[in-house]
Amino acid sequence: MQTDIHQVLIGRRRIASRIQALARQITADLRSSGQRAPADDLPLTLVPILTGSIIFVADLIRHLPLRMRLNLISVSSYPGASTRSQGVRLRRALENLPPSLAGTHLLVLDDILDTGRTLTRVTQLLQRRQPASLRTCVLLRKDRPTAHNFPVNYVGFDIPDAFVVGFGLDFNGHYRNLPDIVTLKPQVIARVQRRG
Ligand code: 5GP
Ligand code: MG
Repeated sequence: MQTDIHQVLIGRRRIASRIQALARQITADLRSSGQRAPADDLPLTLVPILTGSIIFVADLIRHLPLRMRLNLISVSSYPGASTRSQGVRLRRALENLPPSLAGTHLLVLDDILDTGRTLTRVTQLLQRRQPASLRTCVLLRKDRPTAHNFPVNYVGFDIPDAFVVGFGLDFNGHYRNLPDIVTLKPQVIARVQRRG
């Protein structure tokens, strides 16, 4: 696995300290939006988009000193060995969420913002349930015009338009457990794609 790495884009220490800063900012913003409820008793639901966000979310929520629920949803746009988005597939997307989200503050979390299709679709579906507020947060945002079209509230890092893995992000199901965010050697990607 280590020999497949081309370049470490963001190391684990930088990721950890950025996640702490994001958590402070999110906490402050949520506290200031709770006019009536005591600050830490806002009805707050985090909606992580599986599978790529799991490590990010696991780290982030331990720095959020707020009462919250977690509602995982599942979306896939890079099936198998693709390194470009193949269009959003909503699998079991919102089935665990209550039909009405009135009064609930939502924070949707994803690993990376690329074409923006995933967050556009997911936030459209969630808005129909009329939450009290809806914010979005991604660990990474790619330097692509489409990524900047989506008005995400919180971004961990802006990165170049490259295919990255590690810290939850996969290629063909692998590399999610790498602790840093890295690019793969082109020959590694080519080898897997040749096999189909
Ligand atoms: P979007 O819908 O914004 O095009 O894509 C978002 C989803 O595509 C992410 O949640 C992630 O699953 C996948 N994705 C986008 N860029 C990358 C990347 O560079 N590496 C990996 N592993 N997945 C990516
Ligand atoms: Mg994803």
